[in-house]
Amino acid sequence: MKIETLAIHSGNQIDANTGAAIQPITLSTTFERGKDGDYPGGYIYSRATNPNRKALENVIAALENGAEACAFSTGNSAGMSVFQALEPGSHIICPDDMYHGLRNQLKLLFAGILTFDFVDYTQPEQIFDAIKRETKLIWAETPSNPLLKLCDIELIAHIAKEHQLIFVVDNTFASPICQQPLSLGADIVMHSTTKYMNGHSDVTGGVLVTKEVNEFWDKIKIVQSYGGAVPAPFDCYLVTRGIKTLPYRMRGHVANAQALAEFLEAHPAVELVYYPGLKSHPQHELAKKQMLAFGGMLSFLLKDGEEKAKQVINGLKIFTQATSLGGVESLIEHRYAVEGPDTKTPKNLLRVSVGLEHIDDLIADLEAVL
Ligand SMILES: *Cc1c(COP(=O)(O)O)cnc(C)c1O
Repeated sequence: MKIETLAIHSGNQIDANTGAAIQPITLSTTFERGKDGDYPGGYIYSRATNPNRKALENVIAALENGAEACAFSTGNSAGMSVFQALEPGSHIICPDDMYHGLRNQLKLLFAGILTFDFVDYTQPEQIFDAIKRETKLIWAETPSNPLLKLCDIELIAHIAKEHQLIFVVDNTFASPICQQPLSLGADIVMHSTTKYMNGHSDVTGGVLVTKEVNEFWDKIKIVQSYGGAVPAPFDCYLVTRGIKTLPYRMRGHVANAQALAEFLEAHPAVELVYYPGLKSHPQHELAKKQMLAFGGMLSFLLKDGEEKAKQVINGLKIFTQATSLGGVESLIEHRYAVEGPDTKTPKNLLRVSVGLEHIDDLIADLEAVL
């Protein structure tokens, strides 16, 4: 089946007792045993597994073309489960512009347990050079935040395979509609479902999807059920509901982002636009090769510096000045202020999560302040 059909049907189970067409929310933490002590429905206790979580995991595994998925309470706990599943002393290679929440997690929580190097993934030889005897995993994120840099998934998968390393891709910015890392050779895909998957800025969640069930994946499942950073049934229900419209929402995000990027690129107040769908993007050819569509995120630099950037975000009427991304409403953010002094993000950069409002209204709002 095609992805639009999978998004609607593979996370839903018609209720056998009532015939409810939409799977009900199962709040019960515990499930009745059969006479012989087993569990006829397959459920025991909600930290270990829950019908709504199962539905969510099923639909996301289907969308990413994976064997199985594990859902978590946030994107960061999904990422943390990967790091926790590694043996102490393992070395990880990460991009130098890794999502700052996960970069800080490694630096603040895993220092002394794991070792890691942050290198520039647009120069794949740097990945190659960073590999040492203890290296167990390569972590990638593409497009990256907030400079929309890409890395070549197929090429890195090749390097990982040659050195028997686990290759994980954070696919949050692209969504499975715009990019399918498992089909390009990745072993595991990670998402913050807080973003496009849920799509309505009202749930936090995360997920991992594996291409195949193996020893490492079994370890991740142990982290999920014994670590217990699992999403509530209601949150799973909301994300499963959001996913039904994901393919159509992404088309709108992509079309609006492309139009907005072209408008900004032509505007005299703008120095540079970062969007993989622009011909001027230094990796536009790679974007065409590995992405199915160019996503809904863009960043731009203002000619008149940080002052002008602040003036723009404060003058907008439709765009909300807020962090996060992937919701139906457009958000804009001065990333430098969020990421702190050790960031490489330029001070005159604004990051936009392009929403689903009418493109004419979005352009008019920006035009008025630029
Ligand atoms: C938001 C985000 C995360 C973390 O997800 P949370 O749900 O906020 O914990 C990880 N990676 C990327 C690319 C993100 O945008």
